[in-house]
Amino acid sequence: MHVAYIAFGTNMGDKRRYIREALKKIKDKGINIIKVSSIYETEPYGVLEQDNFLNGVVQVETDLSPEMLLESLMSIEKELDRVRIKKWGPRTIDLDIIFYEDFIINKENLVVPHKDMENRDFVLKPLCELDENFIHPTLKKSVKKLYEDLQNKKL
Ligand code: ADP
Ligand code: MG
Repeated sequence: MHVAYIAFGTNMGDKRRYIREALKKIKDKGINIIKVSSIYETEPYGVLEQDNFLNGVVQVETDLSPEMLLESLMSIEKELDRVRIKKWGPRTIDLDIIFYEDFIINKENLVVPHKDMENRDFVLKPLCELDENFIHPTLKKSVKKLYEDLQNKKL
């Protein structure tokens, strides 16, 4: 069994329902959910004219390889995207692999630890709730330290 952290984000429709459905589908795919963080409301950056996000992180345990885990998450995104109202609208659910044990993966379709996670409050804050002592395998810092560093960077 491997421990992994999956970040979720949603900014359209009934966001809490999309989160519930995504978590249920994760379980249905035989991925064990160990802990779910609190859910944070986040303002969008980049494309600003869209609704606020709800973000969080889930700690899971799975026998799936990183590639198979990604495939499962992408199929869940696809299943939930089907009820999408607007073709080019924001997404109903985004599921990203943040960590997979201490694996370092740099493939075209899969980068783990997730790129840029150290610059995202909405990933680091919920991660701290789940396991603040988890060490980022390339930055060699705990998620707690990464979160503190990010706050200091903004001062
Ligand atoms: P984003 O998450 O950056 O908003 P998408 O969800 O559309 O964008 O993801 C685009 C691609 O990112 C996916 O097709 C996937 O192959 C790739 N990807 C690379 N690393 C990861 C990861 N750690 N978790 C999830 N997707 C990843
Ligand atoms: Mg994604």
